Amino acid sequence: MNEPAPILPVRMVNEYAYCPRLFHLMFVGERWEDNDYTIHGRSVHSRIDGENDPLPPPPADPDDPPVIARSVSLGSETLGLSGKIDLLELEAGQAVPVDTKRGNVPPTPQRCYEPERVQLMCQGLLLREHGHASDSGMLYFAASRRRVRVDFTPELEARTLHLISEARAVANNTHPPPPLTDSPKCVGCSLAGVCLPDETNLLSGRQGETPDIRRLYPARDDALPLYVQEQGARVGKSGEALSVEKGRAKLGMFPLKDVSQLVLCGNISVSAQCLHLLCQRGIPVVHLSMGHWFYGVTAGIGLRNAYDRAAQFAAAADDGRRLTLARAFVRAKALNQRTLLRRNTTSDIDAPLADMRRLIAQIDTCADVDQLMGVEGSIASLYFANFGTMLAEGPARENFSPTSRNRRPPKDPVNAMLSFAYALLAKETTVALLAEGLDPFWGFLHRPRHGRPALALDLMEEFRPLVADSSVLSAINTGMVALPDFVISPAGCAMNDSARKALIRAYELRLDQMITHPVFDYRCSWRSVIRVQAKLLAKVLRGEIPSYSGITTR
Ligand code: SF4
Repeated sequence: MNEPAPILPVRMVNEYAYCPRLFHLMFVGERWEDNDYTIHGRSVHSRIDGENDPLPPPPADPDDPPVIARSVSLGSETLGLSGKIDLLELEAGQAVPVDTKRGNVPPTPQRCYEPERVQLMCQGLLLREHGHASDSGMLYFAASRRRVRVDFTPELEARTLHLISEARAVANNTHPPPPLTDSPKCVGCSLAGVCLPDETNLLSGRQGETPDIRRLYPARDDALPLYVQEQGARVGKSGEALSVEKGRAKLGMFPLKDVSQLVLCGNISVSAQCLHLLCQRGIPVVHLSMGHWFYGVTAGIGLRNAYDRAAQFAAAADDGRRLTLARAFVRAKALNQRTLLRRNTTSDIDAPLADMRRLIAQIDTCADVDQLMGVEGSIASLYFANFGTMLAEGPARENFSPTSRNRRPPKDPVNAMLSFAYALLAKETTVALLAEGLDPFWGFLHRPRHGRPALALDLMEEFRPLVADSSVLSAINTGMVALPDFVISPAGCAMNDSARKALIRAYELRLDQMITHPVFDYRCSWRSVIRVQAKLLAKVLRGEIPSYSGITTR
């Protein structure tokens, strides 16, 4: 059954005129990201938005005195539009909408851009629907403090009606239109980091004329995870900051703008006001146990686009697609394990490296996920049997060399650190998948099981050697941890506070490290690479790009 065409906010017609994909991401996908332009635009509008005047009646006589109304809300089912007019001037029988723009008057022949003219024309059409005569509108450019008149010509009216009709049809599509190719519009687009126009076009074979892939999102985040490890501490809200206290002692204040995640390790409490604020701002709260167990994430309502999750469940129910994706996760992890070993070993391990290569070649011939898991297990055994050869010769190797991977509980310091690093990585991929509207608990390689973030475990496979294992090696080889930082007993091996802090430091340093992206050839941090992979996985599931490839390094 076809959905009735929705009523569009006038601002969304502006977005559609700018880029149909941007419109879909915002209106259907409910995606929103701030950039400098949107923050400035909001502050310009906040001075206007406070008032809400009703629409004055059409003047009975053109010679009536002028009337001014602010923030006038209008809607029309006939037009399929609703919107707010910043400022309305009634004079000489004409209703003139005035729309405020944040920037300078653009240096174009018409001194404004088409999306702005279309938005103003929408307001004119709404005014006409409500009985006013409206032949022109005004754009007020706040930075230049200048007005630009826009005449509501028959051409502009026809173009606007056409765009409204197109946008209402696109709003009923479950998936967004393709990205623009090589467009300068993408550079100023607030959703460029969500859309990934050049990356998506490259991977879907719709490459533009410019072969370079532009990185249109920040290479490195300003906001970072805030880890709270002090047992018995309490996190609260203090204005626009998070306060951490224990008893009467104040442990720190952290401005919200600097926090990307709140990570609670063990027995830490959070006030309800603080949780509400974090949910509102889209800052996830990650819960880890003292013993390195990843319990889960508290997040706001988040994305409401159910289509991506529907596509995810459909793919997981399709044995062929499930196996293809599972192979991609295992292949990337195995290649990265072998590369890490080959690059960092100080021993002669040609034979196990050759065995790993032989097993990696079998991945594509596995007939089902169970067989694939068997091959993956054999590769992992070879890798962990030789893990100790990557430790620096001397105390690091003498004290830390493991002989195999073991867990629940880990029996030696390396395995204790690996378990903790994998828990940190699982929270990273869980948060990245939640941000894309995917269900972290419904996987392809890992089957859903109560409390297991199966898709997060799938996505983290390729990053285990690249991020987690590398962090553990770095913490040991650079002396950030030492044997006294571990409590070893017949029941297992546990890290003390100092070892945990050291590993978190090594792990965060690794995530922050800048690399040249292996596929897109631009500089970005490992943290960004993980997020981009989550976005690409979502695009594969919704059919925007044909296949998923895990990140591998040489
Ligand atoms: S990045 Fe470019 S293609 Fe993507 S939504 Fe923005 S303007 Fe459109």
